[in-house]
Amino acid sequence: MSKYITIIGLEIHIEPNTNSKMFCSCPQNHFGAKPNSQTCPICLGLPGALPIANKEAINKTIKLGLALGSKISEVSRFYRKHYFYPDLPKSFQTSQKDNPFCVGGELMGFKINHIHLEEDAGKLIHQDGNSLIDFNRSGCALIEMVTEPVFHSVEDVLKFTKELQLIARYLDISNVDMEKGTMRLEANISLSLDGKLPNYKVELKNINSFKFVEKAINAEIERQTTALDSGQKLAQETRGYD
Ligand code: ZN
Ligand code: MN
Repeated sequence: MSKYITIIGLEIHIEPNTNSKMFCSCPQNHFGAKPNSQTCPICLGLPGALPIANKEAINKTIKLGLALGSKISEVSRFYRKHYFYPDLPKSFQTSQKDNPFCVGGELMGFKINHIHLEEDAGKLIHQDGNSLIDFNRSGCALIEMVTEPVFHSVEDVLKFTKELQLIARYLDISNVDMEKGTMRLEANISLSLDGKLPNYKVELKNINSFKFVEKAINAEIERQTTALDSGQKLAQETRGYD
């Protein structure tokens, strides 16, 4: 037995199976589509474009919140989350911060912080020393669930995400297919001696299958254990699973 207690919080992105994107009428389903064949002035972030919120996406977000016992906000708002990266043509993501659609909630005893709605970014493809951009995913509706740091093992995480998958499919919110990217997972991992949340967390990105969930989280627990055992201090950082 390890002397450390593993503490994991999850951020789970789910692409709902709506007909259209979050703020325009381009198709939401972009799997296998010819690159940049599903775009318009709104999801390309062109000046003067007027976004209109997708009611179906909002309904599916609220449906998920109701199923998980969240408090549904009577007033909800979108915010601009600014960052500069080529996959984001208007230089901000329309997302939620205060007043997300769903606050709190619980699944199998694991507490949820909130569920919000946002838009996805485009997809960067790196090949032969060049970076290519496909904007078919730009502006797609994206539900994000943020849990509390309540998981203590990979088994907990798998139990939770597989149950969430069943619920999302049963309610026809999404096909939540990790391999197709309609469910994406980020895990924040820290180790603690006394069970209290330490002052660092390591965010793991690029987890796109259940096999990877297991491998990536276990590899990170091992890495942190070795580091702490040898007296190292762990820093707050983001790591991509390779
Ligand atoms: Zn569009
Ligand atoms: Mn997000």
